[in-house]
Amino acid sequence: MAKTDLMDRIVNLAKRRGLVFPSSDIYGGFRSTWDYGPLGVLLKRNVKEAWWRSMVQMREDIVGLDAAILMAPRVWEASGHIDTFTDPLVDCKQCKERFRADQLPESGACPKCGTKGSFTEARQFNLMFKTFVGPVEDAASIAYLRPETAQGIFVNYANVQTTMRRKPPFGIAQVGKSFRNEITPGNFVYRTREFEQMEMEFFVPPEDGEKWFKYWCDERMSWYTDLGIAPDTLRLRQHETSELSHYSSGTADVEFMYPWGWGELEGVANRGDYDLRKHAEFSGQDLSYFDQEKDLRYVPHVIEPAAGADRATLAFLLSAYSEEEVETAAGKTETRTVLRLDPRLAPIKVAVLPLSKNEQLVPVSAEIASALRPHWMIDVDVSGSIGRRYRRQDEVGTPLCVTVDFETLEDRCVTIRERDSMAQERVAIADLVAWLRDRLPL
Ligand code: ATP
Repeated sequence: MAKTDLMDRIVNLAKRRGLVFPSSDIYGGFRSTWDYGPLGVLLKRNVKEAWWRSMVQMREDIVGLDAAILMAPRVWEASGHIDTFTDPLVDCKQCKERFRADQLPESGACPKCGTKGSFTEARQFNLMFKTFVGPVEDAASIAYLRPETAQGIFVNYANVQTTMRRKPPFGIAQVGKSFRNEITPGNFVYRTREFEQMEMEFFVPPEDGEKWFKYWCDERMSWYTDLGIAPDTLRLRQHETSELSHYSSGTADVEFMYPWGWGELEGVANRGDYDLRKHAEFSGQDLSYFDQEKDLRYVPHVIEPAAGADRATLAFLLSAYSEEEVETAAGKTETRTVLRLDPRLAPIKVAVLPLSKNEQLVPVSAEIASALRPHWMIDVDVSGSIGRRYRRQDEVGTPLCVTVDFETLEDRCVTIRERDSMAQERVAIADLVAWLRDRLPL
């Protein structure tokens, strides 16, 4: 399948099956914003859950946080965002379209109208959204929507370190919305102005910075491959010195092969002591750590794996999408669309399907559904041929379908059909929860 086709198919499937809708759809959409539908919200929650599980639940050295989106404006002065969180903006004098100067084609032609040499001088454009807090719209009430979740972590460093009695190395993890007034949003949910980040700041003794940077690069690559991204579509790209952000002494991007080429999925940065030092300076608070064992005071260095929940969701969708030719019951061939999502990410884990709308089968299905519902997100689908219902579940990545047929009424067993192999197995209703639990990892 051509790569551009793949993207169209994903966007189409996303809309048709309730994964992602254009925002404000009935008003014609709104500037590259997207809404996650009933299945999309489950998928993205599962992505965030998988991240949280690996970052917080499964580790003894990381704790969680949920900081406010609106923060004291001084935070953004200290962090350098007011002065330096900018992209170079140019206008095409011919068609008036705006572009990021660092993303123009080498030919020098306008990507929209094709005119050469038509761009204005680049000017720096700050990506932070401004708003006013309270009823008066004056300079004193300006606030910003956070452009990254990280600063909420830095300003809470001392609160967390003392209340949780932590000693470096330790980390603070956070998932939440961030906002950037991107000049050129696009590629579906890849680049939007409102998005979700999954960020973790890992505070370490200064001499261990390099070691932990390498450690987190490896860990983060494994997280993606473990959840189903093929290793040959993933790479770690070290930044050139000229690319480094103002705070970073080393950055590597985890990149995914999107249909339009390699694109950033996550950035892993060695931020040194930049953030804590700046916040100590601007707030007047001491953010150093005293190591009693070594009788040594230092400002911890920070290693930051910063991922995007939306870009990850898109990468998992692209990786999972497949089409294959299969034989139908009538001996014809048809195309089966399957999302081969890892079961941990699949929106619906189990579908319960009575073979038909028969008045004896439907109540048994309902009874099974009630037994499964407390454990997993399930779906009950009664309409259409069983083959068509399997296809509908395949298309949204449901790993297992439980079919209730007439034999069930006799032997209290159901047929379980697996998504990828389409293999079927007969299981007693009484054993169903245990059987599924073995096959649906957390
Ligand atoms: P890019 O170079 O693509 O603009 P960035 O290097 O500015 O990204 P970071 O500041 O490192 O991004 O943010 C960490 C992560 O947050 C990114 O790897 C990405 O997954 C996500 N992210 C950043 N900007 C956006 C956006 N506009 N839309 C969706 N996700 C984003």
